Amino acid sequence: MQQILLAINAGSSSIKFQAFATDGDRFDRRVSGLLEGIGSQPRLVIRDGGNTVLATRELDIAAVPSVEAGEAIVGDWLTGAMATDAIGGPIAAIGHRVVHGGPDFSSAVRIDDAVLARITALTHLAPLHQPKNLAPILAWRRRRPDLPQVACFDTAFHRGHGELADRFAIPDELYREGVRRYGFHGISYEFIAEKLQEVAPSIAAGRVIVAHLGNGCSLCALRGGRSIDSTMSFTALDGIPMGTRPGALDPGIVLYLMREKAMDAAAIERFLYHQCGLKGLSGISNDVRVLEASDDRLARLALDHFVYRITKEIGALAAVLGGIDALVFTAGIGENGADIRARIVAGSAWLGLSLDEGANRARRTDLGAGTSGPRVLMIPTDEEWMIARHTRRLLAIA
Ligand code: AMP
Repeated sequence: MQQILLAINAGSSSIKFQAFATDGDRFDRRVSGLLEGIGSQPRLVIRDGGNTVLATRELDIAAVPSVEAGEAIVGDWLTGAMATDAIGGPIAAIGHRVVHGGPDFSSAVRIDDAVLARITALTHLAPLHQPKNLAPILAWRRRRPDLPQVACFDTAFHRGHGELADRFAIPDELYREGVRRYGFHGISYEFIAEKLQEVAPSIAAGRVIVAHLGNGCSLCALRGGRSIDSTMSFTALDGIPMGTRPGALDPGIVLYLMREKAMDAAAIERFLYHQCGLKGLSGISNDVRVLEASDDRLARLALDHFVYRITKEIGALAAVLGGIDALVFTAGIGENGADIRARIVAGSAWLGLSLDEGANRARRTDLGAGTSGPRVLMIPTDEEWMIARHTRRLLAIA
């Protein structure tokens, strides 16, 4: 019997969702939605399974000041869609992206009161993301208490890291209370690892670096389809620079901000999550497209630094892997930023990477030039598909 699964991915300023029809082996997208620009220029776009736009609504910023308010709008649309059969039937279950699963959650889990309490207790590890992930979970519990809900964690895919990769050089006591290198974007990396079996089966079992370059950016080292290390760590601040986050920083800078600028924890948190990265360095924008179109010196410097740091970390992960068989680009910048891709590959030529410029501009899957050396691939990520897959597996639907 056909059943409909809903996957919700609530981020810091957007909510993405997709509904899939599942029946036996079939897994068809019925509808996808994106509410973006929450708190700035909110806009809801709904598409059908073939990506044709069904509806676009420009929303008033006052009506959608927060992700919680956005959730209500998405929830109303979905409730209406169910009533009119617009998504192919009633929803059987909902899967959610949850950023932090702490040391305990190493796989997706059905949400009950105890699980909800544990997810909520992890909020201090992801203060800006976890409350946004919780908003749709809580709202659907109120709206439809009968519906099974599943949490899929961004940290879960990395839980198999060895102890060397999982540690900071700090006392063991802190490790035992949870101060570890968790890693994030795991739902995206798991999707890529699965997709590689289809698009490049010969390298899916090999040594692969995946560059998830979106609003948040990180790199992941895969061996045999499993994560062995990643640039993000205890929080989603570490690693390579992002739109508004700095990536790895000398911790002495935090002490400097406290002592010399009298900034408290809340001010430093705002600074590190919202005022650094491409935006902080350029003083112009967090958006790669805007920086690429600018001839401002600092805009160029921000992009140069972004590429430099990514190239440097590719080298570090290649060392961890003992060489690489492929580099995979994914997420907003990784999928669309042809110039950034070309520059990263050029900076990694010492690893044997090379790019076919025509394939790169045409956004093909296979971007590599020549037949020898590691492959260079571009694979669009689909976190909602992965969430729906986990939800189906966990609840043994279809
Ligand atoms: P995501 O978080 O995966 O949705 O990625 C969002 C980011 O993708 C934005 O901040 C943009 O910087 C980036 N992006 C989107 N389109 C392009 C493009 N054509 N070229 C470069 N970057 C892009």
